[in-house]
Amino acid sequence: MLLRMALHRKARKFTAIAAAVALILAPIPAITQEGEKLALLRDTETEQLLRDYSRPILRAAGLEKQNIQVTIINQAAFNAFVADGRRIFVNHGALLQSETPNQIIGVLAHETGHLAGGHLARLREQLAQAQTQMIIAMLLGLGAMAAGAKSGNTNSGLTNAGAAALAGPQNMILRSLLSYQRQQEESADRAGVKFLTATGQSARGMYETFKRLSNDTLFAAHGSDPYFQSHPMPADRVAALEELARSSPYWDKKDDPSLQLRHDMMRAKISAFLERQDTVYRRYPLSSDTLPARYAHAITTYLHGDLRNALTQIDALIQTQPNNPYFYELRGQALMEGGRPAEAVAPLRKAVQLSNNAPLIEMLLGQALVASDNKAYVDEAITILRAAVARESEAPIGYTQLAMAFGRKGDLAEADLASAQAAFLRGDNKTARDLASRAKTRFAVGTPGWVKADDIVTAKPLPGQKK
Ligand SMILES: [Zn+2]
Repeated sequence: MLLRMALHRKARKFTAIAAAVALILAPIPAITQEGEKLALLRDTETEQLLRDYSRPILRAAGLEKQNIQVTIINQAAFNAFVADGRRIFVNHGALLQSETPNQIIGVLAHETGHLAGGHLARLREQLAQAQTQMIIAMLLGLGAMAAGAKSGNTNSGLTNAGAAALAGPQNMILRSLLSYQRQQEESADRAGVKFLTATGQSARGMYETFKRLSNDTLFAAHGSDPYFQSHPMPADRVAALEELARSSPYWDKKDDPSLQLRHDMMRAKISAFLERQDTVYRRYPLSSDTLPARYAHAITTYLHGDLRNALTQIDALIQTQPNNPYFYELRGQALMEGGRPAEAVAPLRKAVQLSNNAPLIEMLLGQALVASDNKAYVDEAITILRAAVARESEAPIGYTQLAMAFGRKGDLAEADLASAQAAFLRGDNKTARDLASRAKTRFAVGTPGWVKADDIVTAKPLPGQKK
């Protein structure tokens, strides 16, 4: 399942910071652009792979206890950044454009370098300082202009002195911020290489990626690439990185072939779900019968409405890898979206089992059970969905399906509560409050359901959320 989700509430927190950054610092608005239209991708297969990529790096950085997640943003441009100290954000474009695991692992290592260095907190401090300096500079400038105006000398040098006073310090502040950002980039490079070496991995992919991006920006309109904007890459930085990376004993170490295959499968899936069909067939020609190509073909066939043909292709994939949970997941998803939810139940059960109860797949199974319109399935759906939302608290679909299951049972109190929780996760606080208020009237006062509903009614919206 590749789920396109609107921005959820936890990720919203950082938009305020990003906006503050954008006010002052030109090279960072890339983050703000992300912040404003941040739409996330949720997919167990991709997330599991990124967890496997990031876990050793985070451990080497001493961050294994921080529960840092890699979150995928639904954007095609190459970008990766840290924004709230708890997450590394990666655009799906960065995954698609990374040809090897080592290339994207290098990007994750660099971003982990920012996290480990506490760069965000320090950047915020610098910005707060800069903001104060900027305001003082502006006041000084305005003061000088006012003085010019008072003397009746409106188009004299004095007025211009006022304008210069405004521009001069701002420029200096901007330059000092830029050099600060530059230092952070170099220190993240060094830390990234250190983590890679400590985990027996090559920093070649990291160097290749940065080198390619710095070359690209020579040809593209300068600074148009968001990663370039958030990560300035002058030639000497790339050269320093190359020297550092080549000094590692693991420079020539290749990715494990099974990891490369998982990487290629992930890229095939992202392409098939998100790119135009002609692009998918250009990347994965019909003449190609590699596993990733067949995966991409099966997905794009089902997405374009040929369910029968898609099922044949998916069954052939299952024959090749009978223990791959994501092939069963795909079969279930195709059947469900093709209007055959009852038939989706069996493959999704298998996918849940093979994935060790991955919550996003459990939610899909819950959805199939509910949509099957079979009374015998309702209690099971509720049990599975409750277990899923307990472990995966950020996907509103779990609560939406739970609400439907309770609706089927006629349990309106629980149905309202689950709908309120779904709305809350979508960031729609008004709907969440309305539904939670109604749920409260249906529960006995003080019961666990009533308490949960009351929590939502009294929750304070985060900055930037609908009241
Ligand atoms: Zn960086």
